Amino acid sequence: MIIGLDDTDSKNGMCTTYLTAVLIEKLKGYGTIKGYPLLIRLNPNIKYKTRGNAALALPVELNRSADAENVKQLVTSTLEEMAVFSEENTNPGVVFIEKTPQRMQNDLSLFSMRAVQDVLEIHEALELLARHGISYRGYKNKRGLIGALAAAGFALCGLPDPTFELIAYREKERWGTPRWMDEDSVWAAAATPGTWDTADYENKRIVFAPHSPDPILFGIRGRSEDAVRCAFLMIKSEPVERHVVYKTNQNTDMHLISAKISDVQDDRSYILDGRVSKAPKTIEGGHVIFEISDTCAALECAAFEPTKGFRHLIRQLRAGDEVTVYGSVKERTLNLEKIKINSLNLYESRNPLCCGKRMKSMGRGQGYRCEKCGATRKEPVTESLQRNISPGFYEVPPSARRHLAKPLVRFDMPPAASSCAH
Ligand SMILES: [Zn+2]
Repeated sequence: MIIGLDDTDSKNGMCTTYLTAVLIEKLKGYGTIKGYPLLIRLNPNIKYKTRGNAALALPVELNRSADAENVKQLVTSTLEEMAVFSEENTNPGVVFIEKTPQRMQNDLSLFSMRAVQDVLEIHEALELLARHGISYRGYKNKRGLIGALAAAGFALCGLPDPTFELIAYREKERWGTPRWMDEDSVWAAAATPGTWDTADYENKRIVFAPHSPDPILFGIRGRSEDAVRCAFLMIKSEPVERHVVYKTNQNTDMHLISAKISDVQDDRSYILDGRVSKAPKTIEGGHVIFEISDTCAALECAAFEPTKGFRHLIRQLRAGDEVTVYGSVKERTLNLEKIKINSLNLYESRNPLCCGKRMKSMGRGQGYRCEKCGATRKEPVTESLQRNISPGFYEVPPSARRHLAKPLVRFDMPPAASSCAH
C-alpha cells in the first residue's frame, strides 16, 4: 500500500513531515516501510501553500492484506488528531493506493510531474481518484488531495534523480522555544562530503534549522542516506525526539521547464536563454532587476534582496551579454535561482573622441560634432569593454535557495557511494 499525505501544516506548529514520522512508528505493527518515505516538493509558486509546499508518501508492505482497512483507519484518525483544521490554508488530503495497474501508473506519473511544474485544480485529482477507484479522504476544500496523490505517484513510479534529507524532530515540550545546538559541531558536520546547505559559508550562517515554532530541529540534505547520517552523527544538540531519512525531489531542478521566453506563463518555473536587453538596476528594497530578450519576446529577471552577494554579480551584467536564467515566474518577473553567463559583451558603441573629449551627438542618426574644433563624424566608434566577471554558472546563497533548486555542488557530484568515517 502507498499512503500519500498533504497539507496538514499550519503556520505555527504542525508539519506534514512530523505527522509522517509519527505514522511510521504507529504503522510498525502492521508492516514495514518499503525503501524510504518520500518528501516531495510541489510547484513552489502555488499561492495557497502553507509553507514549503511539501507532500509525503509512505510505501508500506503490509504483513497481512486483511489489515488494509485498519491501516486506513489508523492513518485518518492520526491525521484528524494532529492536523490543524482551524487554519484557512490547511486543507488536508490522504490517499491509499492498493492496486497499481499500468494504466494508473501512466496517469499518475503525468499527474505527479504536473504537480511540480504546473498548476493543478482539485477536480483533476478527484477525477483521477474516481477513475482508478483509489480510496481517499479529503478535508475542507480537499486541496491536499493534489499533493497526496502526486507524492503517492512518485512513490509508485520512482524519482528520476533522488536526493535525501534527514529530518530530526524536537521533544514536544520544547516546541516554540529557541533551538539549542553546538555551533562548532554544526560547522564541522556541514563539511561532510555529499551533503549541502547545512551552512551558508558566504553569509556565515547556519541554515539547516528553521526558526518557526514547528517540531523540526534541523534537516540535513545530501546525495545518500550514508552521507546525511554521517553528518547527523557529528551534531551536538538538544535531545532529538525522533529522526527520519526521506528520499526527496529537493535540489533537483525538477520544477524547471526548458522553454522560450515567448512561452512563459506566470506561476511556472523555467530555464530560458536570452540576451541582456536592459542593464541591471537596483530598485527600492535592494532588489536588482534587468531584462532579457530573444528574437521575439522579453522578460524581466530579478535578484531579490535576500539573495545577498549574488546581486553583486548580477549588477555587473551589461546589455548584450548572453545568459541562461533559471527560476520561477510571477507577475511576468523571473525570480533568479541560478544564472549561466554564456558570453560577455566585450564591446560597446560610444561617441567618437576628438580634441581629447567625446564628440556630441547632433540627434538621432545625425552624426557627431566636436564642440572644440567643429569636426563631424557620421558613425559612433566601437570600443572594447573592461569586464570584472567571467562566463560561467552562478547561484544564490544557501540561505536564499528554494527547496527544489539544484545547487551547483550537485552538478559535479557523483550520485551515491559515500564513505562515512563514523
Ligand atoms: Zn575636435
